[in-house]
Amino acid sequence: MRSADVVVVGAGVAGLVAARELGRAGVDVLVLEARDRVGGRLLNDVLPGGSPIEVGGQWVGPTQHQVLGLIDELGLTTFPTYVEGRHVAEVGDSRSEYTGRVPRLDPISLADIAQTQWRLDRLARSVVLSEPWSTPQAAELDGQTFETWLRRTARTSRGRGFFRLITEAVFSAEPSDLSALWAAFYIGSAGGVDALIDTAGGAQQDRVGGGSQQIALAIAESLGDRVILDSPVSEIDWNGSGVTVRTGSTTIRARTAILAVPPPLVARIRFSPGLPGDRDQLAQRMPMGRVIKVNVVYDEPFWRNAGMSGQANSDRRALGTVFDNTPADGAPGVLVGFLEGRHADVGSRLDLPTRRSQVIDDLVAYFGPNAGAPIDYIERDWAEEEYSRGCYGAFLAPGTLTRFGPALRAPIGPLHWAGTETATRWAGYIDGAVESGRRAAREIRAVLPEQDAAAPV
Ligand SMILES: Cc1cc2nc3c(=O)[nH]c(=O)nc-3n(C[C@H](O)[C@H](O)[C@H](O)COP(=O)(O)OP(=O)(O)OC[C@H]3O[C@@H](n4cnc5c(N)ncnc54)[C@H](O)[C@@H]3O)c2cc1C
Repeated sequence: MRSADVVVVGAGVAGLVAARELGRAGVDVLVLEARDRVGGRLLNDVLPGGSPIEVGGQWVGPTQHQVLGLIDELGLTTFPTYVEGRHVAEVGDSRSEYTGRVPRLDPISLADIAQTQWRLDRLARSVVLSEPWSTPQAAELDGQTFETWLRRTARTSRGRGFFRLITEAVFSAEPSDLSALWAAFYIGSAGGVDALIDTAGGAQQDRVGGGSQQIALAIAESLGDRVILDSPVSEIDWNGSGVTVRTGSTTIRARTAILAVPPPLVARIRFSPGLPGDRDQLAQRMPMGRVIKVNVVYDEPFWRNAGMSGQANSDRRALGTVFDNTPADGAPGVLVGFLEGRHADVGSRLDLPTRRSQVIDDLVAYFGPNAGAPIDYIERDWAEEEYSRGCYGAFLAPGTLTRFGPALRAPIGPLHWAGTETATRWAGYIDGAVESGRRAAREIRAVLPEQDAAAPV
């Protein structure tokens, strides 16, 4: 039995940021992490030659002020994603190689894409980010899937194909999975469609030196033995005077708890008394998206010599999204690709050699025969991870935000909620995780009397 003022469940970015903020304010805090490592959905692997490579979340963008500020505070650096040269786009039956932002398509499809994006951005701007359920059109939007909204708005098959591809790339789910209100909220929380899909100027602009898991590792190092690994929380007893949190081997008594785990995983913890119906119904309606991320490694970034950026998108291939993921020093060459949504469903049912060969076939179709001779293949299927069960984040089905949305962040007695899914800006991203950890720490500081705080860390 140990005790603390605050126990944080989950040592992803959200939980670690919350603990860091509380520790700096002199609050006695412990973090319980199920895995044998910190970082959650951030994880570095190693390339041949020893450079780190991310198998989880990696990019940061220029309007992600929370994470950029944190990277700076931790003494970490960023470097730009490689974008020089021609990108490949396959939409419908067309293939184009293009520079700039807009794929080469027929004028009618391009006009359709432009007007659909304009309407989507206008809709996203109308969402009340702090309370999406208060948005003027909330009931109408939450009563339909994003697929329904797209079918009513996009007029051409290429236009619909383009937005299906974007949905898979951004939400790791299908348009038919998502509430249109959730889709509009998510786009609004990022500042628009371009901010989500762009490399230069958007969410894929920069990478973190040493790999993005460094963010979590650096915070954990400063917290020292306040982070307890290999401690999956299975039970939480709570009442007006505090919480008792149990793992297989440890029991922690604390005055408050921050649950910094993805919503579907909250539903796997036994609470006594049980969580109020609204909170549990919400968790039952927040599945994780599904992604298999692959890094395919070559002696050198051969596509650069051919004037190609390494960036490709297709609405007809399993590997729908690809970027150049070569380390900053230029070797080895790495193409990172994603099997998202329904493509991850199908891909995960294949054995590894079959999946690998399909991935490489797609890369050959994008970048030519040199892509057929990789020196390494590094993949991670996030739906198979016991303590993530999917990624990039959870999404909301129709009818969820308007009926149960207020339960997403509202504390319940001593229980507080963090995690990127609870953010108002860049929900689903590392930036949103940082925002949520800071907000949960502020909530706790407001309820813990200052004179009770322990000595600073
Ligand atoms: C393949 C992939 C690509 C992505 N790409 C990007 C990107 O490029 N840019 C970007 O900004 N974001 C990206 N993301 C999303 C980003 O990684 C997440 O938004 C962010 O890391 C979430 O942090 P979090 O702390 O909210 O949750 P998590 O990282 O999921 O942390 C939750 C923690 O809780 C732990 N846990 C779970 N259950 C328990 C339990 N019962 N007891 C104790 N601990 C428990 C988990 O092990 C985990 O460590 C990507 C994610 C993935 C997986």
